[in-house]
Amino acid sequence: MEETKRIVTRFAPSPTGKAHAGSYRTAMYAWLFARNQGGKFILRIEDTDTARNSKEAQDDIYEALSWLGIDNDEQYIQSEHLVRHQELLNKLITEDKAYISREEAKDGSGVMKDIIRFRNPNTLVTFVDLIRGPISIDTTDLGDFVIARTINEPLYHLAVVIDDHDERVTHVIRAEEHIANTPRHILLLEAFEWDIPAYAHLPLVLGQDKQKLSKRRNALPMTDYAKVGYLPEAVFNCIAMIGWNPADPGSDQELFTTEELIKRFDFARMQKGGAVFNIEKLNWFNREYIKKLSMQEFWKHAHVWLPVWIENIPSTQEMLKKIEHLFRDHIEKFSDIATLLSADDVSDRGAAEFDYFFMEPIVDEKILVWKTLKDDPDGLEKTKTYLKQVAALLAPLTEETWNYDGIKNVLIEYADQEGKGNVLWPLRVALSGKEKSPDPFEMASILGKDATIRRVLVYI
Ligand code: GLU
Repeated sequence: MEETKRIVTRFAPSPTGKAHAGSYRTAMYAWLFARNQGGKFILRIEDTDTARNSKEAQDDIYEALSWLGIDNDEQYIQSEHLVRHQELLNKLITEDKAYISREEAKDGSGVMKDIIRFRNPNTLVTFVDLIRGPISIDTTDLGDFVIARTINEPLYHLAVVIDDHDERVTHVIRAEEHIANTPRHILLLEAFEWDIPAYAHLPLVLGQDKQKLSKRRNALPMTDYAKVGYLPEAVFNCIAMIGWNPADPGSDQELFTTEELIKRFDFARMQKGGAVFNIEKLNWFNREYIKKLSMQEFWKHAHVWLPVWIENIPSTQEMLKKIEHLFRDHIEKFSDIATLLSADDVSDRGAAEFDYFFMEPIVDEKILVWKTLKDDPDGLEKTKTYLKQVAALLAPLTEETWNYDGIKNVLIEYADQEGKGNVLWPLRVALSGKEKSPDPFEMASILGKDATIRRVLVYI
């Protein structure tokens, strides 16, 4: 009985810069497929382009993969295989499948150099792409392509073919831009008389400007999303779905755990055309994942973003717990908490959206008056009367009845009678000092009876 081959995939980034969502989607698919098949996933750093490599970029790749939970079974550095590459380059030359060609350097210096070219048999190469189906390419146009800059400097085409073979890669899953390279790789594989792996060339990831994702134009390094407090599971879910729909037919499910994505992974429902990476969509995913966090998990992520000044305020912890649901409603990523509380110290108050939960607001009387009373010369006086009545209505509430419904019940009738805006607008401003804030019943219930009545009475 023929032994079925264990599936082996790889992610083979070149560490020439911090990689973005497009690269990591490639990593995700290679990883998801390997995990789906009970196979092996390899990480190979392709560092043969010594002029453009950087240690920083390489570390950034490790960091992003680990953050996303993309673990590997084997890890290689391509430059460490140089001796093997040279050996096989020499073999090709000995067999006259490649040759040394003395040519003028491309830099216009007129210097003559020995480069190594592959002797192209000019055949028609056909392979079945797992996403695109059969692809046939006449390799005549490729000419005798260069496979090494010198005998000591094998280039990408040669290195990738040798490494994929040596690492027993069964499925080469990579970006669409490599389609043009695949016929060269197949010619080399045939020259070595090695098995040809399966290929899947992934559709492009586009930016919101519908242009190919590029570090220079429209994409952030993946590690930046970690730095500003996105959740890796949300980023994984979002990026995995760029150009692939894992939902059951007829279902519009979008939230999938990584385990579910592994189970559902297939190439069949992958689109051929480019697909857009949309930051609003990522924010939506992140909010959904934030909603699902337990209180403990939420604060584990949130606490790093709390400004220092807040720690010096008595009862901070208690207040933070009370406004947890507001944070969850308002933030897209955890660093937004720093913005909601951004004042650097108490003297900076008024600057941040949620500071009034921790300190007395400074209220500009001009905004205290509801818009329809603005032109009324007695507008401010009337507003003060409403606030006085609000305080009187709230006074009898007890610890038990001081809650959203209790507060609303005692105020709503009066507000309906005098005009909702006239009564509830100044209440909202008195409590927060802001024109934009949560519903006043909610704020009052969070602030507590003493603080609420004190803030309302400041104007009387
Ligand atoms: N090192 C190549 C790149 O970063 C990928 C090579 C491959 O997947 O075959 O584009």
